[in-house]
Amino acid sequence: MLLQKLYLVKDMTILGKAICPDCNGNGYIGSAKEPDNVRDCLKCNNQGEFEITEEDINQMLETVKSARLQ
Ligand SMILES: [Zn+2]
Repeated sequence: MLLQKLYLVKDMTILGKAICPDCNGNGYIGSAKEPDNVRDCLKCNNQGEFEITEEDINQMLETVKSARLQ
């Protein structure tokens, strides 16, 4: 069951990109109505999306693992 999930995640890497969850694809965080409070999204480097790397997957899996242990 877990293996199936791993392969599912791996398949997603073929797509290569994901919408940045921090800025929801905007590339910045904050509201356009409040320009003073708008800041760059560092997670995606203002791209609004980011490429998923093997490293991201591994981190994700580590998080899942540690969550299961607790
Ligand atoms: Zn972002």
